[in-house]
Amino acid sequence: MNFEEYSGVWVFIEENEGNIAQVSLELLGAGRRLADKRGVDLCGVIIGNGVTLLSETVFEYGADVVYVYDQEIFTHYRTESFMKALLHCSEKYKPEIILYGATSTGKDLASAVATDLPTGLTADTTELDVEEDTGLLLASRPAFGGNIMATILCKKYRPQMATVRPKVMKALSPEPGRTGKLVEETIDVKEEDIRTKVLEIVKSTTKKVRIDEADIVVAGGKGLGNADGFQLIHQLAQALGGAVGASRDVVEAGWVEHPHQVGQTGVTVTPKIYFAIGISGAIQHLVGMKNSGLIIAINKDPDAAIFEASHYGIVGDAFEIVPLLIQEFSKAFA
Ligand code: FAD
Repeated sequence: MNFEEYSGVWVFIEENEGNIAQVSLELLGAGRRLADKRGVDLCGVIIGNGVTLLSETVFEYGADVVYVYDQEIFTHYRTESFMKALLHCSEKYKPEIILYGATSTGKDLASAVATDLPTGLTADTTELDVEEDTGLLLASRPAFGGNIMATILCKKYRPQMATVRPKVMKALSPEPGRTGKLVEETIDVKEEDIRTKVLEIVKSTTKKVRIDEADIVVAGGKGLGNADGFQLIHQLAQALGGAVGASRDVVEAGWVEHPHQVGQTGVTVTPKIYFAIGISGAIQHLVGMKNSGLIIAINKDPDAAIFEASHYGIVGDAFEIVPLLIQEFSKAFA
């Protein structure tokens, strides 16, 4: 394989009902840094129906080149059709790196593409870097139960591919009017060649808990003792207008449901303020909240690991401190 034929950092731009997924904008931010370090183009790939105009946003968020496949066959995401478009583009323009959001669509597409291209895929990456001279992508992710960070390299094949967790990379501020090279492509895919048919789209009626979108997250751990004690977390979150987060042990104990879980096997959050109350600070929890703007920990153990990751720490009993906070914040925001 001649590596010199491969150039450019690509981001698969995920689109839903005319909107670009936030993770794709975050990846453009991360991809810009990698592309600049390598001195190559940052490119976005958009696949859909009626999506060409979205290229303007992709340029504003940092891309130099946008490849667009705008055809009726791509109206809905289907693995086979999107995979054919991405393979076509990749084989024609030969990128050195392709990044996808670690969403259900991104993971599905990346793994399908990886079965066809002679290359590998690092899943669920949380840190990205690149070696300037060799161009090797350094894709890091928690491994062995989250106890270590593993950096995974793809030394023998191109493109190098990774899915990246939402909310861990930062999008650049958009530069209005910034533009680049638009490359419009089409492929000949017939409806009868696609086995998956979208018969109907049924929107979920259950209310989704989106702690990853909250500005304030109040998270509680096993230190709250039991489900009744955990009510303090709900009350403080309510007083602050924030969302409720939890450690895995709390979710496993059934005090709150899984969508509230923060961490490696839960949600990654980056709120402006994160309260960690009665949470020890295991690495699997930290990977899900360590990039929060301001971290405030309350724990009765002065040596708890959570204090290492916090901006402010209060050593003490949650049952004494939290009711005082609820009282004061309720007055302040009344
Ligand atoms: P504990 O570790 O029991 O800590 C309780 C803390 O409360 C202690 O620090 C204690 O000092 C303090 N405390 C006790 N009483 C009080 C009080 N009255 N006032 C104040 N403080 C008090 N964990 C996650 O959170 N998210 C994940 O996504 C996740 N994924 C995992 C994936 C794998 C593969 C594995 C192996 C583990 C994972 N874990 C995850 C579990 C993780 O390792 C820890 O077990 C878990 O985070 C501990 O939860 P905790 O901090 O609530 O409980």
